[in-house]
Amino acid sequence: MLPLDFTPTARKEVWDFLLPRLESYYANTQQVHVSPPMKVREIQSYSRALPFDQPHSVEEVIEHVIHGLTTYSVHTPHPSYFGLYNPRSQFSGIIADLITATFNPQLAAWSHAPFANEIERYVIEEFGQKFGYPEASIDGTFCSGGAESNLTALLCALNQAFPEYDKHGIVGTEKEPVIYCSSESHHSLAKAARMAGLGAQSVREIAVDANLRMNLEKLKEGVGQDRKEGRLPLMLVGTAGTTGAGAVDNLMDLPEIAQVEGLWYHVDAAYGGAAILSESHPSLFTGIEKSDSLTLDLHKWFSVPMGASLFITPHKRILNQTFGIKTAYMPEDGDPNQVADPYTHSAQWSRRFMGLKMYFPLAIHGWQGLQEMIEHQLEMGDSLRNMLTSKGWTIANRSPLPVVCVSHPDFPPELPLQEFVDQVNATGKAWISVYPIHGKPTIRVC
Ligand SMILES: *Cc1c(COP(=O)(O)O)cnc(C)c1O
Repeated sequence: MLPLDFTPTARKEVWDFLLPRLESYYANTQQVHVSPPMKVREIQSYSRALPFDQPHSVEEVIEHVIHGLTTYSVHTPHPSYFGLYNPRSQFSGIIADLITATFNPQLAAWSHAPFANEIERYVIEEFGQKFGYPEASIDGTFCSGGAESNLTALLCALNQAFPEYDKHGIVGTEKEPVIYCSSESHHSLAKAARMAGLGAQSVREIAVDANLRMNLEKLKEGVGQDRKEGRLPLMLVGTAGTTGAGAVDNLMDLPEIAQVEGLWYHVDAAYGGAAILSESHPSLFTGIEKSDSLTLDLHKWFSVPMGASLFITPHKRILNQTFGIKTAYMPEDGDPNQVADPYTHSAQWSRRFMGLKMYFPLAIHGWQGLQEMIEHQLEMGDSLRNMLTSKGWTIANRSPLPVVCVSHPDFPPELPLQEFVDQVNATGKAWISVYPIHGKPTIRVC
């Protein structure tokens, strides 16, 4: 036996020991406290309780970790975690991740994992079509999350605008590139700007209207102003479901502004994009098909285990232009016209088979099953809004998505909202948060 291996008998014993414990958490998540008290010292000493200068039995390590995760986590899979788009993992996604970890296919080059790579292409192309991109032009890549997808979009925009960007980088751009998004957009865009070498000052957070959508007049003014001052407007980001309050930017009119101004038009649909499957809201994202690229998280509303997102674009060559590279040691593309190597196509190199955890739910439940899940949750959002308004609460955000921000006219002014929310969270029965709408704090429930 090799030094780190287990005998087949020992492996069977571990599976028999582990699986009932995982099943017990999965089946009884509603019984745990949603969030633990943050006893930092206690958590730090528990985390270091197994010294590495001696071995421990696998059962002891499993028990230690399961107890630690149960006791010291915010339980995002809990049915009363009304938080930040972190759902319970779909069971079929869990199975997929287990298979991925066991086979460990290497997705850097197509030829090392042809089946796994083609499964990912299949999923990317299917999603691309759902968003209305022409089938023949769809390209994309799996990313670790929305932040990486948004960074990918910015890098594509830079490479599109500056054909020599691969050689000279930001130094060769002469004019300062500028990114436009709304003041409600996700802050991963500021990080992307920093990582790309533009700096956070290159991001213009355009003011929003009463419904928290980007103000298009302000956008045009901002673009004009930057041009006048010698900068180069580069990219426009519309958000399809903002993180705070579920606002959907004006996806009908943004494409034209982007076209007139010559901007790369990206839609950040990290959370909300899943509602593209909804038949009860058929026109929610009309216009999204005119985007140059989009971000869709799979580990948010699609409920696959973290981390997985998509970056999709109808520009067939841009990913290769942005990330393409030649080496003496990597295997070549199987056929450069038909297949693509992920390492010449994305920010990652050695790569996990992320796509399987989205393929599994799709193959098992079909689009129909996913659509029913989305419709059900949209209805739950409507029910919650109705229940709250019938009890005198005021809904502060106008979103069709199941993100509800509320306040109550009789709320005692001497009790700050954050304190109230902290009290609710301290009960361990639910997790909610505070989000300011037009500067006024509200209770946010998703
Ligand atoms: C969550 C979110 C992101 C970031 O995605 P991660 O998966 O957390 O990296 C980006 N944009 C929006 C609108 C989001 O809601």
